[in-house]
Amino acid sequence: MEIRECKRCLLLESGDKNNHETVVAYINKIKPEEKCDEEMYKKRLEICKNCDNLISGTCVKCGCYVEFRAAFKNKKCPDSKMRKW
Ligand code: SF4
Repeated sequence: MEIRECKRCLLLESGDKNNHETVVAYINKIKPEEKCDEEMYKKRLEICKNCDNLISGTCVKCGCYVEFRAAFKNKKCPDSKMRKW
């Protein structure tokens, strides 16, 4: 699959398999006490997928891959004017 700029797409949906694998490896290294639960994680990613700030898995507000940022219990959506999670 070719990598393309994809509005409101997570990494895999944009075809970026390599970065997706890297992000999954990093997520697997997060300490259990710092990780958000599966339900919250899915909810956050659904919100991101409906946000105009998501481009090819990256939040333009912070430059993070949302799949990584959302995995931390204590992280917040970086949009300070309209925080969505
Ligand atoms: S601004 Fe918030 S909701 Fe939108 S993509 Fe970034 S982290 Fe997700």
